[in-house]
Amino acid sequence: MFDIAKQFFSTFLHTVLPIRCLYCKAIIGDHGFCTECWERLPFLPESTCTSCATPIPEATVHSLCAACLINPPNFDLAASALVYDHFSRKLVLDLKNHDKTFMLNVIARLLLKAGQDILADTQALVPVPLHWRKEWLRQFNQSALIAQYLSKCTNVPVLQALRRCRHTQSQGSLSSTSRQKNVQGAFKGTMPALHLNHCTLIDDVLTTGATLSECANTLKMLGVKKVSVLTLCRTINSGKKYVRN
Ligand SMILES: [Zn+2]
Ligand SMILES: [Zn+2]
Repeated sequence: MFDIAKQFFSTFLHTVLPIRCLYCKAIIGDHGFCTECWERLPFLPESTCTSCATPIPEATVHSLCAACLINPPNFDLAASALVYDHFSRKLVLDLKNHDKTFMLNVIARLLLKAGQDILADTQALVPVPLHWRKEWLRQFNQSALIAQYLSKCTNVPVLQALRRCRHTQSQGSLSSTSRQKNVQGAFKGTMPALHLNHCTLIDDVLTTGATLSECANTLKMLGVKKVSVLTLCRTINSGKKYVRN
């Protein structure tokens, strides 16, 4: 009920207040960004590894990057809308502070475009869970909010199929191997079994993929046959340049 009231208030505000660009706050129409900021959006290139969404040369023989050929993640497909840089990082951080209704509608539209192949036969959107203590402090889980708004555009249901069963150290300062160890066994299913052909994990940023790979592993242990990943942003290069909060 409280959510409905908040949504109504937000819609009411948009009818009486001008809509502003999500980045520079210039007054605009209803598409999220002014022309200048839209042109600055760091869209991922079209040619990416199908398994982990890292950019790869267009003329490559495989559809996989070298890292996935050697050591594939537990998820099968991945797509992201934006490269994680100073520009998109601000959007991710703003999710915590600004009018979420408008912002999440724009983010859902970006994900819809980036993930159209994945979403075609996805049966459920599974948000990456926060530990209850972190969610309580933040008062929301941004992945769950993104999943809810994407669900509205796609009619694919949100399934809170995972819970974080232990608090983990922030992944930002850890090496790739330490990240894998840090999240090993950190997730459990919220139900004993999940017999679905295809689920898509939703998160804000895909970095090394350690957390998402562990989530995919948990979903597969529950019985899901194929697990994809759809995120707003994808770090490229080491992923150490912009540390996630
Ligand atoms: Zn702008
Ligand atoms: Zn890859």
